[in-house]
Amino acid sequence: RPRVGVVAYQGAVPEHLRALEAVGAEAVPVRWPRELEGLAGLIIPGGESTTIGDAMKTWGLLDAVREWAQAGGAIYGTCAGAILLATEIRGGKPDQPRLGLIPMAVQRNGFGRQIESCEADLEFKGIGPEPFHTVFIRAPYFEDLGPGVEPLAELDGKVVAVRYGRFLATAFHPELTDDRRIHRFFLDLATGGTPDPAQEVPAPHA
Ligand code: GLN
Repeated sequence: RPRVGVVAYQGAVPEHLRALEAVGAEAVPVRWPRELEGLAGLIIPGGESTTIGDAMKTWGLLDAVREWAQAGGAIYGTCAGAILLATEIRGGKPDQPRLGLIPMAVQRNGFGRQIESCEADLEFKGIGPEPFHTVFIRAPYFEDLGPGVEPLAELDGKVVAVRYGRFLATAFHPELTDDRRIHRFFLDLATGGTPDPAQEVPAPHA
């Protein structure tokens, strides 16, 4: 079984571990850099992006994950995790620690703070025609997508899911529903189902 990690300081960690096991992965929590060894993929969960980013920096995981990703690791960020993958963060602390691996801007709390949460059935490119039931919680959206960043889903005209080679980001939380198609899609990416040799990984963000 391919082993996939979940960054486990804060946020929706057990839900992702369960979803990964359900699609046939061996799911492990990750807090220390040495726990990246042997992983096929890594999920950064939703939660609070400054909290998770600060913890990753403190524990040395920020640099370690960046190196691991540049050596071929696949990453999936949901909500706060997606914020940490973007090169540019708008509407929050612009200097907050991040991985900066997907060339795009992310608008934090992009759907407004007053609408804390919403659900919608969306088309999601690459997982079949059946709509995916999505849960948004103080979600960001993505904009100014760089070359090679492919939009996979939209809500109200805003991009809410992207793929950049072996990196995947969604503004919503598929781990909170029972539909496992997006976790399976990520596992396929991580195990070399659809490699993208042309992908350029951008220079690490300071
Ligand atoms: N609004 C949160 C942030 O900016 C993300 C919310 C979530 O992960 N559900 O970090």
